[in-house]
Amino acid sequence: METFDADAVVIGAGAVGLACGRALARAGREVLVLEATGLIGSETSSRNSEVVHAGIHYAPGSLKARLCVEGRRALYDYCAARGIEARMCGKFVVAMDDSEAAAIEQLFARALENGVEHVSLVDGVDARRIEPNLSADTRLAIVSPVSGLFDSHGFMLALQGEVEAGGGAVVFGAPVVGGRVTRAGLEIEVAGASPATIRARTVVNSAGHHALPIARMIEGGPSYPDLAMHWAKGSYFVASGRAPFSRLIYPMQSRASVGLHLTIDLGGRTRLGPDAEWLADDAGPPFDYRVDPDRAAMFYDAVGRYWPGVRDRDLSPDYSGVRPKLAAQGEPSADFMISCPAAHGVGGLVHLLGIESPGLTSSLAIGEHVAAMLDDGS
Ligand SMILES: Cc1cc2nc3c(=O)[nH]c(=O)nc-3n(C[C@H](O)[C@H](O)[C@H](O)COP(=O)(O)OP(=O)(O)OC[C@H]3O[C@@H](n4cnc5c(N)ncnc54)[C@H](O)[C@@H]3O)c2cc1C
Repeated sequence: METFDADAVVIGAGAVGLACGRALARAGREVLVLEATGLIGSETSSRNSEVVHAGIHYAPGSLKARLCVEGRRALYDYCAARGIEARMCGKFVVAMDDSEAAAIEQLFARALENGVEHVSLVDGVDARRIEPNLSADTRLAIVSPVSGLFDSHGFMLALQGEVEAGGGAVVFGAPVVGGRVTRAGLEIEVAGASPATIRARTVVNSAGHHALPIARMIEGGPSYPDLAMHWAKGSYFVASGRAPFSRLIYPMQSRASVGLHLTIDLGGRTRLGPDAEWLADDAGPPFDYRVDPDRAAMFYDAVGRYWPGVRDRDLSPDYSGVRPKLAAQGEPSADFMISCPAAHGVGGLVHLLGIESPGLTSSLAIGEHVAAMLDDGS
């Protein structure tokens, strides 16, 4: 087995791993991104809504709130500079009854606290003037003009290009299977067609669903005895016919609403979802990504509350993704966990855990955050 030295190693070529690689390359580091499969973005980064989130929903002061707002601004600029399709189509968050209307006012205050630009609150009449296919029951809506959609695959290709332009590489078919902290630094074991031991100054573990087991494989590193991963599968359906809205429509989640979103994707299709189906903690990975056609009945009910016209459309199962969650069902949602040397004491090592939504929107900001943490000599 070969042993060689590398400057910075990133584990996982999803959007977040590639964005970390790009940020390290921009900081002058030579980066090796190790990817288990044969493709960039082969897991969650290609199983999501491709929504550029504004930053409305996240707890003020959290990493999710901060990195989403920073990442969103950076993402639009990045796409504009490189000709990657991004459409700032705007979003409505809609309330359909009294309890949702009270909650939406609190959500609006949160959006302002998070620094989301240009948000406003409109009543049901104004909301229906702008989006006439909304239900007549619409009570209040947050209008968020800076929300949008983008081509996440074009984005990841551009990030890969920047890693390579900085003298680095994305290595495919290179699953990380172990590692250790030594006196001289960090060592990573890679299996696959060319097994190797890589000695690196920096290791960023951005392996999505696999990040916690990989962290635990690195002998002498933090093992997070109190953490467990939980999985919430999100399935999508596509509605037949012409797009009924020009903005993204997000209902409030409430006792009466499971909060199923509607998105007009970049191809003009009306995409409904994702829903949230909690899986057993030992259900994967790998996960069963098939979409159960019987879930359509629930989609008709949930979406019919704010778009009655869905009942005249056919719904076809589309695709699904699985959220890597640090909080179990019923627990308050957890923040991103960016576990850095200052927290766990191992120089040069960063683990990214629980990078669920808005991970795609936040990816450029997560990359800069990680590179800055590693630049302080730790
Ligand atoms: C249903 C759903 C909808 C979402 N919608 C949105 C949205 O609209 N907007 C948004 O901002 N965010 C959204 N997200 C979140 C977003 O998709 C994720 O936060 C983001 O894609 C995570 O990227 P990642 O690089 O961390 O993980 P991944 O994309 O999962 O990448 C991890 C990579 O690591 C590789 N890997 C795993 N194990 C190993 C190993 N041992 N060795 C080497 N490589 C390994 C995998 O093959 C994979 O390529 C959504 C998520 C879901 C599930």
